[in-house]
Amino acid sequence: PPTIGVLALQGDIAEHLRVLGGLGVRTRSVLRADQLDDVDGLIIPGGESTTMSKLAVRYDLMDPLRKHVGEGLPVYGTCAGMIMLADRILDGTADQQTVGGIDMTVRRNAFGRQSESFEAQVGIDGLAGDPVEALFIRAPWVESIGTDTVAIGQVSSGDRAGRIVAVRQGSLLATSFHPELTGDARIHGLFVDMVKGQA
Ligand code: GLN
Repeated sequence: PPTIGVLALQGDIAEHLRVLGGLGVRTRSVLRADQLDDVDGLIIPGGESTTMSKLAVRYDLMDPLRKHVGEGLPVYGTCAGMIMLADRILDGTADQQTVGGIDMTVRRNAFGRQSESFEAQVGIDGLAGDPVEALFIRAPWVESIGTDTVAIGQVSSGDRAGRIVAVRQGSLLATSFHPELTGDARIHGLFVDMVKGQA
């Protein structure tokens, strides 16, 4: 089985490791650049993207992450992890860096404050079965995407209808929401298939 790492600087690391463990892949926490050589795929968890960005710089991980993304390492980012994968961000802090890789502009905290966290059903293109019960916690949305980026999930109803909340570009995947917290392993399953070259 492939080995999938979880970037362990900050955020809901354990939850991702648990979901991956249930899918029969090998897992490991990634805190050092050399550990990136030992994984076939990487998840960047939810958390706080400004803190994660600062820690990535401090741990000398920002450039190695960019290098591996550039070389085609499959990476899946949830929420703060989505922000980390965005080429451009809105409402970031002045010094906030991202790994980048996905040609998109992401707006931080777009859905409102922590107290305005909510769940919504989101249909994901290419995922069999019911829509995903998506949990948004101070979540970003995708404001715009480039020509090589595919929107695979949008909010379907309410005043946020049409907002892009899941995207894919080649071997990179990102969601505004947190499937690691809601017990639906299908998006992680899609990512495992991407790592195996089967999706
Ligand atoms: N609002 C957070 C940020 O900007 C992301 C929240 C999350 O990951 N649940 O990084």
